[in-house]
Amino acid sequence: MRDEKIYMIPVNDAFSVNCECAFCYLENNFEKQCIEIVLGESVMEVDARIETNKKGFCRRHFHMLLEQKNKLPYGLILETHLNEIKKHLEKLIYSNFSAATLQQKDGFIKKLLGNQNLNKNKLTDLIQYLENLSVQCVICERIQARMKNYFEVFFFMWKNQKDFQQKVLSSKGFCLHHFNELLKYSLNCLSGKELNNFAEKICKIELDNLSRIYTNVCDFNKQFDYRNANNTVTEEIRNSLLNATEKLGKYK
Ligand SMILES: [Zn+2]
Ligand SMILES: [Zn+2]
Repeated sequence: MRDEKIYMIPVNDAFSVNCECAFCYLENNFEKQCIEIVLGESVMEVDARIETNKKGFCRRHFHMLLEQKNKLPYGLILETHLNEIKKHLEKLIYSNFSAATLQQKDGFIKKLLGNQNLNKNKLTDLIQYLENLSVQCVICERIQARMKNYFEVFFFMWKNQKDFQQKVLSSKGFCLHHFNELLKYSLNCLSGKELNNFAEKICKIELDNLSRIYTNVCDFNKQFDYRNANNTVTEEIRNSLLNATEKLGKYK
């Protein structure tokens, strides 16, 4: 638990925030930090970004990097990452072909199309490379590692601090993604009576809060009926679509 102690404060604080999911709040904050760290690393030496060059990012994080104000760090990341991909693809596409064939693109294409087996193997290798590339993301990996720490600390505090337990139980529950994660982690972190007690309480607050959101969305939709034109619409009802989206769709 020595290392995890530093995560107690952020996890405890997250459960004081009025939001639909404390884990989304934590993930969102850490994601912003990661973006800054990765951009900071990019202006350092090439050695410091070998991992980034090789793995790249998922679609979400490529776009988040693009949206940052300071463009040079991202430009440097793209320059080296593109070069890495280009070299790898060239190797995959042109391997097994003689240098002579390489010089004649027509010959290369004819040979590629003419040899069914070679063609298929080559495509399989290419697909494999692209598949690996598409599931790798330096930022997602760092977030995943940090979230593991947060979940472990959550259960440490749940077991040892009654006031934290109370805080969790008076929260608005979790988004469905983190609700699922929480249940999965509970299988490793708790057992016996403790596990049953946790599951029962957590499932209850999750259901209560889904009902709250459902009722608010229903009321939101009712305001479009002219018969309800004079009804007052509370802030909770006005925010219901956003809250429901956060409950169902993980963080933004
Ligand atoms: Zn969440
Ligand atoms: Zn990612």
